[in-house]
Amino acid sequence: MRWTRSLIPTLKEDPAETEAVSHKLMIRAGMVRQLAAGIYVYLPLGHRVMDKVTAIIREEMNGIGAQEITMPVLHPAELWQQSGRWDVIGGEMFRLKDRNQRDMCLGMTHEEVIAWLAAREIHSYRDLPQTWYQIQTKERDEARPKSGVLRTREFLMKDSYTLDRDFAGLDAQYAAHRQAYCRIYERCGLTYYVVESDPGMMGGAGSHEFMAPSPAGEDRVALCRGCGYAANVELAKARLAAPAYPAWELEEVATPNTRTIAEVSAFLKIDPALTIKSLLVIAEGGPVLALVRGDRQLHERKLQRAIGAFRPAHKEEIEQITGVEAGFLGPVGLEVRIVADPSLQSGCYVVGANKPHAHLRGVVPGRHFQAESADLTEAAPGDGCPVCGKALAVEPVIEVGNIFKLGTKYSVPLRAVYLDEDGHEKPIVMGSYGIGPARIAAAAIEQNNDKDGIIWPETIAPFRVHLTVVNVREAKMAEIAEGIYGDLARAGLDVLFDDRDERPGVKFKDADLLGMPVRVTVGSRAVKEGVVEIRRRRSGEVCTASPAECAAAVRRLLGTG
Ligand code: ATP
Ligand code: MG
Repeated sequence: MRWTRSLIPTLKEDPAETEAVSHKLMIRAGMVRQLAAGIYVYLPLGHRVMDKVTAIIREEMNGIGAQEITMPVLHPAELWQQSGRWDVIGGEMFRLKDRNQRDMCLGMTHEEVIAWLAAREIHSYRDLPQTWYQIQTKERDEARPKSGVLRTREFLMKDSYTLDRDFAGLDAQYAAHRQAYCRIYERCGLTYYVVESDPGMMGGAGSHEFMAPSPAGEDRVALCRGCGYAANVELAKARLAAPAYPAWELEEVATPNTRTIAEVSAFLKIDPALTIKSLLVIAEGGPVLALVRGDRQLHERKLQRAIGAFRPAHKEEIEQITGVEAGFLGPVGLEVRIVADPSLQSGCYVVGANKPHAHLRGVVPGRHFQAESADLTEAAPGDGCPVCGKALAVEPVIEVGNIFKLGTKYSVPLRAVYLDEDGHEKPIVMGSYGIGPARIAAAAIEQNNDKDGIIWPETIAPFRVHLTVVNVREAKMAEIAEGIYGDLARAGLDVLFDDRDERPGVKFKDADLLGMPVRVTVGSRAVKEGVVEIRRRRSGEVCTASPAECAAAVRRLLGTG
């Protein structure tokens, strides 16, 4: 492709209001432009990357026997009402009415449509197993579209679905998907972890996430270098090291105007780990007091798993239920459901006294209050691994894909059943598997860049070769460059040919910014000495070749023979 005929609007400066490196670089490299919050146009370079990523995904999906289909973006509400998700999913679903006032929605995912299809087309055990996939647009009204294409409201997803007679069949297809996913990320040049995850709104019997480590990630994973345990912090059951407990007797202490854990522990001159954080929330069944150790954070997803949907209690509710304002809340003598993190099963603590400006010191869980135990604390670096006890590391990651064992969660309500060998009707056992190509592209940039720009993995670079002619006005130089452009194309390489009438400095800067794996420079040496420079973007290594041998030399560098 000739630059002079292309739309590659590069920018010299970082755009305003961007944090993630991939976001800045994708804008600066002219790959994408934001149309509205979380809605992006892919320009030619961005489009080419997405094409390369989806081609790899397609090959690997076809490789495990998956069949490509295309499902609609627009769905009738009935399907989602049948599965129950019409009511469970809140603002994330785009809903609309058609001209006849029928409720419709835009597809966030396609379990319902797949179950609908299976209910019609799968009749007998002989029709199973099946694997269906699509690479298609999803619409989600995300609460916080963020970080460029990493979290958008409209995005491309590869979603596949397996249909099996039983869980043994599902396990086999799940394992095949897991391997195919690993190959996809490896081929795309990503560093990634496979971690245990929380199935969340998908429901089902187990799930894993594929996580690309990056500071731009919104997820965090707990990793054990000892035994290899890896889980999303939403799930990781870390073992907290116990502080040294003083031999306190139970007594009330005055704590004037000390409401936060930091204020209380500073005032009493104690380790915050010797306090208990008490949070009152309102669940469907009524108020619940959630307890975590004072030095740690409550994880909302974990609390939700323990007590179902909830919201924080309002100021007035707290006072009405406990008789005191939030800063002095505690579990002793409180007549509400109490749920405590397992780290609070033993020890001796300071808690709010449910009286203004007072705390209780020497409170022993199990003796002075009773609580249900539920894992509520977010794993932190240095906590013990739940499997081997060694110290956990916690890293920010980008979720680039996930796989779920759905079981019969959708096939039962949508009546996707089959007749078994003995004539019995059984629900189809389903699995669901997603990958975000835009997240792969952005994660690849997050993991492969330097101060000058992107360093594309060869497999997903918009072009593998960047050909620069230093001065197009020098006829001889331009002629050599044209010749090489033709040779590279004939050698089967995709080439971006910077044939602009621009200063060399501008062209070299743009080449580094765009980050194609190999740059070929045709300058005055080509005219005088008959050599062109071939430079690797990643290492900066330079070699030379004659114009006639250039294409062969580039092919060797790119590992294509
Ligand atoms: P997240 O927890 O990050 O919101 P999710 O669990 O909602 O992701 P899925 O519904 O399982 O994600 O979607 C499958 C894949 O689609 C994800 O692994 C991710 O790669 C991609 N994806 C999900 N939401 C978005 C989004 N808003 N923008 C871009 N890609 C997305
Ligand atoms: Mg989501």
